[in-house]
Amino acid sequence: MLKLDIQMFAVPFRKVSKTRKRMRRSHNALEVPGMVKCPKCGEMIKAHRVCPTCGTYKGKTVVEKEEA
Ligand SMILES: [Zn+2]
Repeated sequence: MLKLDIQMFAVPFRKVSKTRKRMRRSHNALEVPGMVKCPKCGEMIKAHRVCPTCGTYKGKTVVEKEEA
């Protein structure tokens, strides 16, 4: 077998160094959903959704929020 970086089949875990295991898993992290800054209140919100903090979307008030 060629000495490649890629493991083509199951390898005993002791044969894989911590570094090599971590290098492989560096691509396995879950992605954070698309977050943008609300133009009105500056909160981090999900893109293309009404801001849950101030209730605006595209600069217009869509959901009325009771001010304290
Ligand atoms: Zn907002």
